[in-house]
Amino acid sequence: MSVTEAAESRLATHRVVNQPPPLADYDPFAADLALQEALDREGGGWGRERVRELAAILGSTEALEHARRAQRNIPVLRTHDRYGNRVDEIDYDPSMHWMLRLGVERQVNTLPWRETREGAHVVRASMFHLFNQLDTGPCCPFAINYAAVPTMRQDPALAAAWEQRLTLPDYDRFAQAGMAFTEKQGGSDLRANSTVAEPVGDGWYELTGHKWFCTHPVFEVFFTLAQTDNGITCFVANRPHPGFRIQRLKDKLGGRCLASSEVEYDHLPARMLGEEGRGTAFIVEQLVYTRLDTLIAVTGMMRRAVAEAVWHARHRAAFGAPLAEQPAMTNVLADLALESEAATVATIRLARAFDEAAGEEPAFRRLALAVLKYWVCKRGAPLAAEALECLGGNGYVEEAFMAQLYRDIQLGTVWEGSGNVIALDVLRALAREPECAAAFLAECELAAGADPRFDAHLHSLRERLLAPPDALPEAEWGARRLVEDMALALQASLLLRHSPGFVSSAFCAGRLEHRGLAFGDLPREVDGAAILTRALAL
Ligand SMILES: Cc1cc2nc3c(=O)[nH]c(=O)nc-3n(C[C@H](O)[C@H](O)[C@H](O)COP(=O)(O)OP(=O)(O)OC[C@H]3O[C@@H](n4cnc5c(N)ncnc54)[C@H](O)[C@@H]3O)c2cc1C
Repeated sequence: MSVTEAAESRLATHRVVNQPPPLADYDPFAADLALQEALDREGGGWGRERVRELAAILGSTEALEHARRAQRNIPVLRTHDRYGNRVDEIDYDPSMHWMLRLGVERQVNTLPWRETREGAHVVRASMFHLFNQLDTGPCCPFAINYAAVPTMRQDPALAAAWEQRLTLPDYDRFAQAGMAFTEKQGGSDLRANSTVAEPVGDGWYELTGHKWFCTHPVFEVFFTLAQTDNGITCFVANRPHPGFRIQRLKDKLGGRCLASSEVEYDHLPARMLGEEGRGTAFIVEQLVYTRLDTLIAVTGMMRRAVAEAVWHARHRAAFGAPLAEQPAMTNVLADLALESEAATVATIRLARAFDEAAGEEPAFRRLALAVLKYWVCKRGAPLAAEALECLGGNGYVEEAFMAQLYRDIQLGTVWEGSGNVIALDVLRALAREPECAAAFLAECELAAGADPRFDAHLHSLRERLLAPPDALPEAEWGARRLVEDMALALQASLLLRHSPGFVSSAFCAGRLEHRGLAFGDLPREVDGAAILTRALAL
């Protein structure tokens, strides 16, 4: 044996075999047939090239490296400069700025407010879906600006002052908006806010108090809530200002590249928005759009988790065969893929309701937004956990990206309405706006007759929705199950109309007929191989 051969044989253990290549330098849009079809179907076909161009960047090794770096170098709060002056600045890693710049320049935060063509919300939703597959951190500020424009349009003078800069696709000159509502003693219950607003003349107020969660506190203009003599009222204020102090950054489970803070106001100048004492009504617009984005964000993260799991299982063999071809694993992956496709199809359909103000769309939107926000966010975290498991030990290390997804996706369950709050919102809409139930059912009924399991589910749901509502304690007790059944009806209806038969039939079998408590419990007749081929078109 030569010296070289001897050395090679000693080092044989360093040869890497049976490890999948990274899922990088690929086009996540081209690989996602469900998203492509939804974009075209819901009126965003004209934006295909725009979406494709962004997707190619998002799937590149360069973008993945930026996301990885921004996650490792988390933001740092600088409260004072070297001379002791209060500055309240956040130092972000240059890679976080790279991601923020990319989104602003591609109008991921603003497209529908600059592009009046119908379908702009659908195009933008598709871009946002894809961006969340890179990193959800920069997507939070995108969502806040997206929502800030319709919020400001309720006050034309405010919109005239800010809209042009909020929507500028120029990272160095655009204005970032913010929102600070949550306080220590109450987040969901915003009426419990204790910050006070004192009039100082000429239409101005001074705010004094605190906010317990305030994300990306580097904005120039922001909405907040405070008490006046007439109750909780909405205000708009500017920063930087000495009366706005960042107390500390949150050490968060996920979204780690993004700064979320606790802030205090000390006689911070602000202007009132909307009617005094009706602050929560004024910010509904902000919550509607950020709620839509929370839903899209989780849908995008689910998609990335499924893509990673399918990719890994295709390239990794165990016990003599690729994992993806082994029945127990095929069942798991197919089940995850169904969940992801159902979320994508429903989310992009909902985005169309933001493009169309006519007919039943507003009533459909009111209910479908809450229903889907509840259910998709509920499914996101368990899906990410199962997808992580598909990678085995490789899924449990930080380099794999699954750990980040596993943490980040959980945010969707809390942000913009946690599960119970949303389920109760559905009850409220059903009780106060009966046209919403009719519009929701009408959309579901478009698939009537397509599958007996769906027909049975819809029949039972219709009876429950049209019956006189239960008294409140009973209704609240059962709220989650009702919302879940509504979400499944909508998702099944859309899949039956728009996806291949092997997808919709498997969904009806696995979600309406049998409901296993873990993923990977689809009945035997399901065509798992066909679902997996469609799930990652690479
Ligand atoms: C990363 C991150 C960023 C954030 N950024 C911002 C921001 O920029 N600006 C901002 O204003 N806020 C922000 N928030 C705050 C977020 O919006 C709140 O955490 C959320 O609204 C929930 O409020 P809470 O934390 O007070 O929970 P609570 O309201 O105390 O709710 C706790 C639990 O009780 C449940 N619950 C509440 N009411 C009922 C009821 N009537 N019946 C049954 N169950 C109920 C809820 O569903 C929840 O599960 C952020 C939060 C996070 C995690």
